[in-house]
Amino acid sequence: MEPLPHEHPTGASPSAPSWSHCAHGADPATDSVGCRGIHVPGHTACLAHLAEPDRTAYLTGLTPGADVDHRGTSFSRGLLTALLDGVRDPTTGNPHFGKALFTEARFSGAAWFRGAQFSGLAHFSGAHFRRRAEFRDARFSGDACFGREEIGPALFSGAQFSDRANFSGARFSGRAKFDEAQFSRDASFGTNPWSGDTRDSDGAQFSGHASFARTRFFGHAEFGEAQFSSSAGFGLAEFSGQAAFGGAQFASVWFAAARFLEEAYFGRAKFSGHATFAAQFNGDAVFDWAQFSGDVQFGGAQFSGIAKFDLVRFEGASSFGPVLSARGGLTVRHGVHGAGDAGDSSAARDLRAHPVGIDGDHPPALRGSGSHPRGAVRPCSRHRSPRPLLPLRLAD
Ligand SMILES: [Zn+2]
Repeated sequence: MEPLPHEHPTGASPSAPSWSHCAHGADPATDSVGCRGIHVPGHTACLAHLAEPDRTAYLTGLTPGADVDHRGTSFSRGLLTALLDGVRDPTTGNPHFGKALFTEARFSGAAWFRGAQFSGLAHFSGAHFRRRAEFRDARFSGDACFGREEIGPALFSGAQFSDRANFSGARFSGRAKFDEAQFSRDASFGTNPWSGDTRDSDGAQFSGHASFARTRFFGHAEFGEAQFSSSAGFGLAEFSGQAAFGGAQFASVWFAAARFLEEAYFGRAKFSGHATFAAQFNGDAVFDWAQFSGDVQFGGAQFSGIAKFDLVRFEGASSFGPVLSARGGLTVRHGVHGAGDAGDSSAARDLRAHPVGIDGDHPPALRGSGSHPRGAVRPCSRHRSPRPLLPLRLAD
């Protein structure tokens, strides 16, 4: 296996890492740091630059469940395969790591961690995945940290995260799939836009399609300030804890048949494409200050708690409901429908109102300047005994 030349993502002259590093290729004139790979225990070189007999001895000395620390190390596909084979559990056929530190590691080939088990911490923050990051069906028993790295196509389908999962600041440049993944504790793909210094906000960026279909979030799911530049799918996803999408930016997004068991927060989120929310909101649903530039569909949505759309902008909405709302707790205050100051638009005909209030036992009312609004609100109790359908009232 050929050692990889060391590289740095930014190309800038980096400072030395905090760990004892290999320094292979260091040059006082051009690169005082050299290879950033951490020393293999008992040696003064990283795994990539270790002499062949020593590397073989290290790899053959590994056992399933071994702790590994290869921070800053460059992995060719062959070197990674050799490492995975070193910790492969013969009973399952899958790699089994204890604590696994791959902070700032660089994977030049596909990073094939499919089915891998991480019994301890799994740190990949700052790692660089040049090709596919394959973590399908991987199991993370300890904290899993993937923040601040560049990831090409990423496959976490069916992965299980038993402890916290942190993807804040990760940049997914290809398709990212988390279908049927399971997050048992907090899962973070962003930051709280309403807390802390927003200059430090580093929500995950998804350039390709992002799929969270059937994904289950058992803890807090944080997507604040996350950016979805392409389509994003959360169909049939289930959020048992709070789902925080504040300040997130979406192109087209689907929450069809998704279930929010606690609060769903989409305050200040921006939706530039089609947005579908045929979802079940068991807790409060907050869309204050959200902007919908494209078509938006809440048809089939069920709101058991309060649904707030204060100061929301529906610029491209052609319809809204029908929705089910428990106790009529759906408010749209000072919302702007249509193109606003840009003048009349077809989108503005069906829903155009400011302000509009729907609350208490009052019949829901939205003002429309067109022939009739297609939306309707049907109050239902928390016990799901449906009351008669109340169409949105026309005004003028
Ligand atoms: Zn090295």
